[in-house]
Amino acid sequence: MFAFSFGKILLLAAVIAAVWFGYRWWQRVQKVTRDEGATLARERARAPTGEDMVKCPACETYLSPKAARACGRVECPYPG
Ligand SMILES: [Zn+2]
Repeated sequence: MFAFSFGKILLLAAVIAAVWFGYRWWQRVQKVTRDEGATLARERARAPTGEDMVKCPACETYLSPKAARACGRVECPYPG
């Protein structure tokens, strides 16, 4: 009788442990998924379309100031 109850308690403990570790694992998976989603959102927010663009007075195209390249015209103020 005692041995049977002890076995049941062990089984119950094993089930609880399995549920607990499964829950913790699931939480970690959810957190990683959320973090990856946040990283993607940050990278989208950093996309060149969100930058301030400057207009080249010579060729009238809009350029990113950091990536400005000469368009080939003599009047173009950008180095290239
Ligand atoms: Zn230009």
